[in-house]
Amino acid sequence: MPEAMRGREHTLNAVRISLKKKSLADYERIVGRDAIDEILSLAADLKGLRVLHLNATASGGGVAELLSSLVPLLVSAGLAAEWNTLPQHAEFFEVTKRFHNALQGMPYVPTEEDVSAYLDHDRLSAEALTASYDVVVTHDPQPVAFRHFAGRRGAKWVWRCHIDTSAPSADAWDLLRPFVEEYDAAVFTLRAFVPPGLGLGQERLFFIPPAIDPLSSKNRHLPESLCEEVVSEFGIDVRHPLLTQVSRFDPWKDPLGVIGIYRRLKERFPALQLALVAFMAQDDPEAWRVYASVESETAGDPDAYVFTNLDGVGSLEVNAFQRVSDVVVQKSIREGFGLVVSEAIWKGTPVVAGDTGGISLQMSDGVGGYLADDQDDYAERISALLNDRSLATAVAAAGRERVREHFLVTRLLADELRMLRELVL
Ligand code: UDP
Repeated sequence: MPEAMRGREHTLNAVRISLKKKSLADYERIVGRDAIDEILSLAADLKGLRVLHLNATASGGGVAELLSSLVPLLVSAGLAAEWNTLPQHAEFFEVTKRFHNALQGMPYVPTEEDVSAYLDHDRLSAEALTASYDVVVTHDPQPVAFRHFAGRRGAKWVWRCHIDTSAPSADAWDLLRPFVEEYDAAVFTLRAFVPPGLGLGQERLFFIPPAIDPLSSKNRHLPESLCEEVVSEFGIDVRHPLLTQVSRFDPWKDPLGVIGIYRRLKERFPALQLALVAFMAQDDPEAWRVYASVESETAGDPDAYVFTNLDGVGSLEVNAFQRVSDVVVQKSIREGFGLVVSEAIWKGTPVVAGDTGGISLQMSDGVGGYLADDQDDYAERISALLNDRSLATAVAAAGRERVREHFLVTRLLADELRMLRELVL
């Protein structure tokens, strides 16, 4: 066991996350009666099913965002669903972020020390699991070996992968692949993300894109005046155009590239402001290094703002920033899904984003915003939207209907119930 973990065995119980209370009936006015009836009929034979969702953190990324709505809605549909996170441990998260990056294609040869820090943590947390479940769903690379160390325990086991694993670094994938193959099923956002050589038959693979919750504090309607007040408190001048990226400080989200685009646009729009809004997540130690370079790159520019949760940016503030911005940018190089894209579009704000992974699923040129390749492309697309407000409004409105149809949590819930039915009925 690595030195840093010695003596910690007794602290390795998973952390139970308290659930918000959500009621399916509240969604009827947004998605219609038929969608709710379909969910109720899918859930009818699953009443009381004990489902555990297990991931790395309770806040600060898309998975936590998604589980905070999905799990309470499973409960509203009659299932006995719970949400746990792995015990929080800095060294473990350093290692799992390296695996996360490697699964998205960054070269990485796992060291013996990394492997034992990773596996020891999953083993000790799995050994601490005492409750029984009918289905356990583990999310992303962090708990991937939990299934192996927990044993079957009478449950069906599902690995839910949220990242783009289409071209993983071979050494890391060779190591994790046998753990994935012990699951009864694996869920990917896109068929294209299934990693090479995965030995799970077609019948054990599910393809389910994530979704946003239109009634969460992050996404629910807010009056324009309140949004303006909220962002003004952070120094934004609401009379001038605002370009925003809401993303963890992660090299795959390319915040330095966003600053480059903003600089180009600043020549054409001298009053343009930039807001980089980034939650600092516990399982993402790399974020602090990216944060330092973002801070130094924006230093001395009074119109370039960098905000984090440490400045008091929470769901309400993200909601307000996404609504007040003239354009939201999401300059991802690789992206499993990117909830922030649907979040902004749902709020009527057009998005200019990288043509990659799950982003291209959520929007297309003229529907929700524009997909862009290089900095020139981004600058041209954003300029067009800043210059023509009626174009911006029409593009966002078209995208909102696509989000309503495909990327709201009720659709995700129905897909999840379909998968559970296939596993247990
Ligand atoms: N987010 C937030 N505050 C921030 C940055 C991000 O609340 O400062 C939220 C964002 O609104 C979204 C989630 O974190 O709900 C990020 O999900 P996404 O799928 O875009 O990216 P991930 O972090 O999972 O790669």
